[in-house]
Amino acid sequence: MTNFQPSPKTRVNRLPKRGHYDRETIYQILDEALICHVGFAEGGQPFVIPINFARVNDTIILHGAKASRLLKHIEAGNPVCVEATIVDGLVLARSVFHSSVNYRSVVLFGTGRLVTDEAEKMSALEAVVDHLIPGRWQEARLPTPKEMNATSVVSIQIDEASAKVRLGPPGDDEEDYALPIWAGVLPIREMPLAPVRDEVLPAEIPTPEYVKNYSRT
Ligand SMILES: Cc1cc2nc3c(=O)[nH]c(=O)nc-3n(C[C@H](O)[C@H](O)[C@H](O)COP(=O)(O)OP(=O)(O)OC[C@H]3O[C@@H](n4cnc5c(N)ncnc54)[C@H](O)[C@@H]3O)c2cc1C
Repeated sequence: MTNFQPSPKTRVNRLPKRGHYDRETIYQILDEALICHVGFAEGGQPFVIPINFARVNDTIILHGAKASRLLKHIEAGNPVCVEATIVDGLVLARSVFHSSVNYRSVVLFGTGRLVTDEAEKMSALEAVVDHLIPGRWQEARLPTPKEMNATSVVSIQIDEASAKVRLGPPGDDEEDYALPIWAGVLPIREMPLAPVRDEVLPAEIPTPEYVKNYSRT
C-alpha cells in the first residue's frame, strides 16, 4: 500500500508528529469509525453534514435520497472534505490547559461520481450496511427496484488524506506534577448496549449472533 504524500492541504501543522499519511493507519480509522462528516462549500458558505459511509478500496461510498443536496453536489463533480473520528479517551491533565482527548481522526479530500451501474450500486449499498453492522445485509430484505430508483449512491475517490493520532497520558508542566490533583486518562469506547427487540417482533425470532456479538473494533 503506497502512502499518501502530505501536501499543503493535508499536512498537519500543529503537533506534526501526530500526523500520519500511510494508508494502513488512515483506512483502519475509516473502517472503525461509525459515521463520517462531509464538508462542502456552496456559494462561499461551508456546510458539514453527518452521514453513514463505507470505504471500498480507495473510495468512500455515500448513499441517500435522490433529493439530497449533498449527494447532488457530489454528483455534479464538486470537491468534498470527509472527516471521521474515534475518541479513545479523556486526557485529564493537572491543568485545564494541558487537558486533552486521545483520538484517531482522518481528514480526506476527493471528488465523487454517481454510481449508475446496478450491480456496482447494489454492492456499494452492501458495503455501507456492512460497515455499520456486518451480517445484516445477509438477513435483511434487500432493496426493490423502486427503492433502488429512489436512492442515490456516490463513490468519492480519495485523492489526499491525513490521520492525526493522540495516544498516552497527559503531559503537564514540570511544576504541576507536584499538585494534589488527580490526573490520567479515562478511556472511552463506543460500545453497544443490550439489543432492544421491536415490540411487535414474533417471540420465536431469535436475536442473531451478529447483533449479540456486535463490536466496532
Ligand atoms: C476529538 C478531537 C478533539 C480535538 N480538540 C481540539 C481542540 O480542542 N483544540 C484544538 O486546537 N485542536 C483540537 N483537535 C485537533 C484539531 O483537529 C486540529 O488538528 C488542530 O486544530 C490543529 O490543526 P492545524 O492548524 O495543525 O491544521 P490545519 O492547518 O487546520 O489543517 C491542515 C491539514 O492537516 C490535517 N489535519 C488537521 N487536523 C487533523 C485531524 N485532527 N485529523 C486528521 N487530519 C488533520 C488535514 O488534512 C488538514 O487539512 C482535536 C482533534 C480531535 C480529533
